[in-house]
Amino acid sequence: MSRATVSGASSASLFPPMEYRRLGSTDLEVSVLGFGASPLGGVFGDAEPSDGERAVHLAIEHGINFFDVSPYYGLTLAEERLGHALAGLRSRVVLATKCGRYGADEFDFSAKRVRQSIEESLGRLRTDHVDLIQAHDVEFGDAQQIVEETIPAMRQLQQEGKARYVGITGYPLQVMMRIAAQAPVDSILSYCRYDLLIDDLDTALMPFAEKHGIGVINASPLHMGVLTERGAPAWHPAPQAVHEAGAKAAQLCRARGFDLSELALRWCLDYSRVASTLIGMSKASHVERNLRAFGTPADPELVRDVKAILEPVANLVWPSGRVENQDRAE
Ligand code: NAD
Repeated sequence: MSRATVSGASSASLFPPMEYRRLGSTDLEVSVLGFGASPLGGVFGDAEPSDGERAVHLAIEHGINFFDVSPYYGLTLAEERLGHALAGLRSRVVLATKCGRYGADEFDFSAKRVRQSIEESLGRLRTDHVDLIQAHDVEFGDAQQIVEETIPAMRQLQQEGKARYVGITGYPLQVMMRIAAQAPVDSILSYCRYDLLIDDLDTALMPFAEKHGIGVINASPLHMGVLTERGAPAWHPAPQAVHEAGAKAAQLCRARGFDLSELALRWCLDYSRVASTLIGMSKASHVERNLRAFGTPADPELVRDVKAILEPVANLVWPSGRVENQDRAE
């Protein structure tokens, strides 16, 4: 798709108009369907760059304005590709990136690295500011350092106009709340804690976030690939039983003429306590299917039957990060 067609709403009538929600107490209005850019960096297998660019343009054409990326995704490749695709379109998107995580086992939450990181990200993203800078996967860091050094460094970038707002991301919920209670943040990005397989975000994090006016971004509605026909990549941390249940659910949907991924996304889009649901995309065909899911109500009978298949493995969590940052039974 050429850039010229991005502004034209050629096929816009195929899908209902996008909906937007305010991110917590910020003035950012984000599309309820958000574009997760990690697949652009090949995180879920090879991504074809021109298809990735078409995916970004198609998403913008249909009103998706929230894009999330990180220097970690594809070891800078996702930022590079997203920046290339956004050339001339930056003003139409709410752009979020991250700092602190640079490899599977490479973390640096120091103020010095935060500052260096944003400069590098801005270069790759071809912009002079991001709308949201987030400390990436805080459970792998020293929580006290995140409170005393990382968040203040990100606030300094905000003062300088390099980032409009400041957030944190991670998997365990309690450490994110502990951090945010000591050093206020504008947003929390949580993943794999609210989808067809799990819903503890609703009771464990949302009351805290709402009380403090923190915007919540719900990432990975497909449970990082479990709730797809293809299944999850080998690095996925969930136990085998979860993958087997996902495959059974996909089979049931197929037999009834539906697609599990679209159902799983729709389930999350119906959850209105979060500002946006971030789904990972690098293919124009996935953007189309996800826009279709946005416009299609879930079949309650199918949801019931899929939930019954997933029930034996529902609400399973895995360890992530430092021992002291794991969620504890309350
Ligand atoms: P996801 O659950 O969104 O699944 C992504 C996978 O599903 C990819 O393989 C993608 O190609 C595929 N997919 C997308 N639409 C599809 C469709 N219609 N049919 C079949 N397959 C489809 O997982 P994710 O990408 O990890 O999460 C979404 C985004 O959230 C990420 O890209 C990232 O931006 C963000 N995220 C952030 C963190 C963090 O900060 N710690 C963690 C997880 C996710």
